Amino acid sequence: MTTQEVPAPSAADPSTDPMRPRPFRLLAHRFDTDDTVTVRLEPVDGVPLAFEAGQYTMIGMLGAGEVPISISGDPAVPDLLQHTIRDVGGVTHALVRARPGDLVGVRGPYGRGWSVMDGAGGDVVLVAGGIGLAPLRPALLEILAHRHRFGRVVVLYGARTPADILYADTLDSWRSDGVDVAEIVDYGPPGYRGRVGRVTTLVPRAGFDPANTLALVCGPEIMMRYAAAALADRGVPPGRIRLSLERNMKCGIGLCGHCQLRELFICTDGPVLPWSRVEALLRVKEV
Ligand SMILES: Cc1cc2nc3c(=O)[nH]c(=O)nc-3n(C[C@H](O)[C@H](O)[C@H](O)COP(=O)(O)OP(=O)(O)OC[C@H]3O[C@@H](n4cnc5c(N)ncnc54)[C@H](O)[C@@H]3O)c2cc1C
Repeated sequence: MTTQEVPAPSAADPSTDPMRPRPFRLLAHRFDTDDTVTVRLEPVDGVPLAFEAGQYTMIGMLGAGEVPISISGDPAVPDLLQHTIRDVGGVTHALVRARPGDLVGVRGPYGRGWSVMDGAGGDVVLVAGGIGLAPLRPALLEILAHRHRFGRVVVLYGARTPADILYADTLDSWRSDGVDVAEIVDYGPPGYRGRVGRVTTLVPRAGFDPANTLALVCGPEIMMRYAAAALADRGVPPGRIRLSLERNMKCGIGLCGHCQLRELFICTDGPVLPWSRVEALLRVKEV
């Protein structure tokens, strides 16, 4: 081979480089609560972002950084990417302040999702705490798209206060679609007539057949531990209780190790994992 035939070193192929974000344009921006927005994004290159309910993207803005955020939109509408984002720090603040027309960078989708259709033929229970309803929304939309294949569909949703309830109008439309939705708040203002208490207290009385149920749980880790234990006490098999775990993630593709939980890389082995796999790990403090 002559020197002229040696292939020149080239940059990674942009179409396959998993660390290279794709530009998305922000189309719409809706405040769900004081500190949480749902953004609608379209791919600038027009290529839809197909995803499974429960997957996340690494999303960021130039100069701010990149964070993992679950996809909260409809898996049947892959040309419209939706994320529901709570403003907790540097990157989420920049994303929450973005305005229609702004560009954001998106990598993914990443991780293992809910595999909702595993629940076909039985009942499904979704237990959500706070912003944990966002990653469950695509699962519920997929269930509703195949409603005839599922038995009872139950949503148990806990928020800190009535003002923190996400998708309030959507909860009513889910009720109209035959979903048994129960919400509960930790603190109700004077005169509040809804349920007050922990979301886990709803599990024992909810209407589903435990032996034939798929349970999907998302929220703060402590809430998920108690919810999973309550579902197991009720008789749902631990392998049929799925949790979406959160760990600090940087690469999203199992390289950097930031999200490691003993033998698991939550970014690729999860974020959705069965209770039977993680119960022992989540009992260890600081793991
Ligand atoms: C798989 C996955 C899915 C997620 N989905 C969503 C979602 O749908 N919507 C959403 O609003 N957030 C979601 N998060 C959490 C989101 O990634 C963090 O809020 C974000 O990384 C915070 O970055 P920041 O720069 O804004 O804040 P920082 O300045 O980095 O942190 C601000 C505060 O948030 C805490 N924090 C940082 N990262 C996390 C984390 N991963 N989990 C819990 N607390 C954290 C920090 O300890 C600190 O107290 C998800 C996280 C993971 C791992």
